[in-house]
Amino acid sequence: MSSDLLIQNGRVIDPANGIDQKCDVVVVDGQIAEIGRVEEGAAKSAKRVIDAAGRLVVPGLIDIHVHFREPGDEEEETIASGSAAAVAAGFTSVVCMPNTNPVIESETDVEYVHRKGRKARNTHVYTMGAMTKGLQGVELAEMGMMAEAGALGFTDDGRGVQDPAVMLRALKYAQMFDVFIAQHCEDEAFAGKGVMNSGYFSTILGLPGIDALAEEAMLWRDIQLIRKTKVRYHAQHISTAGSVELIRAAKADSLPVTCEVTPHHLLLTEECCAEYDTNYKVNPPLRGSGDIEALKRAIAEGLVDALASDHAPHLQSEKELEFLAAPFGIASLECALGLYVKALVEPGILDWPGLIRLMTAGPAKIIGIDKGTLAKGKQADITIINPDSEYVIDVNTFRSKSRNCPYNGWKVRGKVEKTIVQGEIRFEA
Ligand SMILES: [Zn+2]
Ligand SMILES: [Zn+2]
Repeated sequence: MSSDLLIQNGRVIDPANGIDQKCDVVVVDGQIAEIGRVEEGAAKSAKRVIDAAGRLVVPGLIDIHVHFREPGDEEEETIASGSAAAVAAGFTSVVCMPNTNPVIESETDVEYVHRKGRKARNTHVYTMGAMTKGLQGVELAEMGMMAEAGALGFTDDGRGVQDPAVMLRALKYAQMFDVFIAQHCEDEAFAGKGVMNSGYFSTILGLPGIDALAEEAMLWRDIQLIRKTKVRYHAQHISTAGSVELIRAAKADSLPVTCEVTPHHLLLTEECCAEYDTNYKVNPPLRGSGDIEALKRAIAEGLVDALASDHAPHLQSEKELEFLAAPFGIASLECALGLYVKALVEPGILDWPGLIRLMTAGPAKIIGIDKGTLAKGKQADITIINPDSEYVIDVNTFRSKSRNCPYNGWKVRGKVEKTIVQGEIRFEA
């Protein structure tokens, strides 16, 4: 058999199929043609051979929570620059949040993002649509039209839907299209004008706090609504020990509830805000070490369905404002894998197959795309990782347009060497 690409001798990890073994991967016509040991002569007839000895060969990574700022804030990020950052970081699929300017709330908006993504030819670029018009939490957006245009699901990310009656209507509407609903859980009555976690540190720093209850109250409310509607519901960036318990109880009751965790909620605490460095200003805010422990335990127990960066690029000029005025967000897409390795693999919370599952099959299932696996016949989205290679995160090398990354200078392990999308090598270190 003549192949387009033969990846030899790697440790192939495909959690969706329980594969973790040294073998070869054959790609023909942009699809996985074979996984296993290929015969001696195969290398001769392959158009390109990659020796992946000592490397991990895994399904292309999927990030279901990124902000690419286009349309509206192209100086912070564009779909082209964001997806270039993503592909260099090992991602082959990303899901954009709809809180752009204007908001993604019509079928033409959805088509716009997808078209820009295709044109950039980096990763597959998907988008979610707004749940309510203008993210105002009052009138429902045209979810049906957007779903038809390919929106994977709906969220007002950046804000939670405050009115429980509106949320219930949104869930009932979503039921008609078999899409999922995602929520940025934040009860604004509890959050107020808070800029960091509420507690000892916010008090000594003299900054208004966001109580853990802001997240937990909305998550609790939503779970009651899911009990009623049984719509697929995804809690974005959960950050507190209380949220973990709510998710645990919802799953124990077999409700269709999933959740994601970001790198910063696993690696950074509220104490990081002590120098008023706005690179640590993020929403939900950095919490305490007890919350981090609870999130890690939840991941070890299998309660967390996906890891997601919540990549939120911002201009330096904006992040240089005082802590109260600066925007929320961390740009972490380009170092996400190394951060997860540091948070989860190095301390033994997950092994490599466990980590890869939460970055491939797990997120693919939430958003309902036929990806995240290396099964025969699937699109050849593949990431090749050197698990031992250590490197220093340097924001000046980012392909992202933004530099608001508190991990600059951190040493991490797990370097992406090649990213293959639909059988095409789109990134090579
Ligand atoms: Zn959010
Ligand atoms: Zn977000």
